[in-house]
Amino acid sequence: MHIKIQVVIEEEFGQTTIEDIVQFEKGSEQLNSVGLSLLESKQLLQALQKTIVLHQADSYTTAHQECPCCHNKRTIKSYHTIQFRTLFGIVSIPSVRLYHCACDNTSAKSFGLLNEWLPEHTSPELLYIETKWASLMSYESTADCLHDVLPVNQSLNPATVRNHLHTVAKRMETELEGKPDHLSGCPRDWGNLPKPDKPMTVGIDGGYVRNWNEKNTHLEVIAGKSYSATQPSKRFGFVQKMDDHPQRRLMNVLEQQGMQANQQITFLSDGADNVRELQYYMYPESEHVLDWFHVTMKLTVLNQFAKGLAHSDPDEGAKVTKALESTKWYLWHGNVERALDKIEDCSDLCNDEEIHYQNRKKFLKHLKEMDTYIRNNQHLIPNYGEKWRYGETISTAFVESTINEVVAKRMVKKQQMQWTHEGAHYLLQTRTAVLNNDLHHHFERWYPGLKIENSVEEPESTKLAA
Ligand SMILES: [Zn+2]
Repeated sequence: MHIKIQVVIEEEFGQTTIEDIVQFEKGSEQLNSVGLSLLESKQLLQALQKTIVLHQADSYTTAHQECPCCHNKRTIKSYHTIQFRTLFGIVSIPSVRLYHCACDNTSAKSFGLLNEWLPEHTSPELLYIETKWASLMSYESTADCLHDVLPVNQSLNPATVRNHLHTVAKRMETELEGKPDHLSGCPRDWGNLPKPDKPMTVGIDGGYVRNWNEKNTHLEVIAGKSYSATQPSKRFGFVQKMDDHPQRRLMNVLEQQGMQANQQITFLSDGADNVRELQYYMYPESEHVLDWFHVTMKLTVLNQFAKGLAHSDPDEGAKVTKALESTKWYLWHGNVERALDKIEDCSDLCNDEEIHYQNRKKFLKHLKEMDTYIRNNQHLIPNYGEKWRYGETISTAFVESTINEVVAKRMVKKQQMQWTHEGAHYLLQTRTAVLNNDLHHHFERWYPGLKIENSVEEPESTKLAA
């Protein structure tokens, strides 16, 4: 059968036009041809988009050719074409340059009539989808997926997707620069504020991605997540070299979560050197705690070695396992000295050439590292057990670390992924916005009238580890 798709356009002033969009031949006998094919759907969308945009542009041009003040028709200087990139293909829109009316004292002689109507030549929705997808998967996959399902313009490639994402990130960064990096109001009045919720918790992780500019080196990235009892978690991230005001970034995230000036904040960190300094710099007055999650991760690694040891030497293995259990128990109660003693016991037990455990040397190295880690962070080790009994947060997550969620999953998945400082930093901005379910808010603010589907808030179950 022959299928002909037409569109009926009814203009405000009663004029009606009917335009052919596409035509398909569809048989009922052919194999695998039931319904609309993907290719046909792309043709349909592209043709429909072209018709709608051209009609809108035409209608705007007609309505605005005369001077808004004296209603004289303005003279056309020249004709040109605007290439408008959309999710449904690129549309070439004919436009005119008009001379300003004699009654208008603007210094410029002429202006493009459609410039005000269409200031950007990429549609906000295309920009939004490119940014959102590329925040979750690679630039290559984003370009591939867009080409798979939509009639986007042929020239759309990973580099254009990346450039568009950078544009969005820069816009977000510019907005952030205008925000304060200190608590609002006078400290004298903070006492009069309503009683705040439970302390807010901020987990900070440091991580690394491969450096594009200097091969075989790494860039330092910081990722964090704030938790509150009443609001969904918010992530933030940045490349330390790129951000002079991490404090402002954090402040902004906390304010979005409804932080009050009189609210107590607890910092949980992984205890890495770079992060430790940063969190003091950001909030010197707060409580700083070594994240129990990171402590247990390190203990888990040690326990795996102990299991290996038990295979070669059950007696020694059992002793070491027992000493590690004690280490954990002492750390849980904030008894750093005794915990260090127990780690030393483990080292002594392993420091025996007679033991035929192939990873013995490696195990010793890890025990030494654990000893240093505990020593360096001893001022951040509280009595976890007591805090836990009082319902205080002592750990960011048992399921997943923030650095893994914010950085690793997108930026270090493939070993060959390499980043510039800017590239990594910008991607972190859009990625955290997507993970925080905030990207659409930015777009709806920047482009009034734009309504992004599915922008209904989903309640997030904030995972506060017990
Ligand atoms: Zn005029």
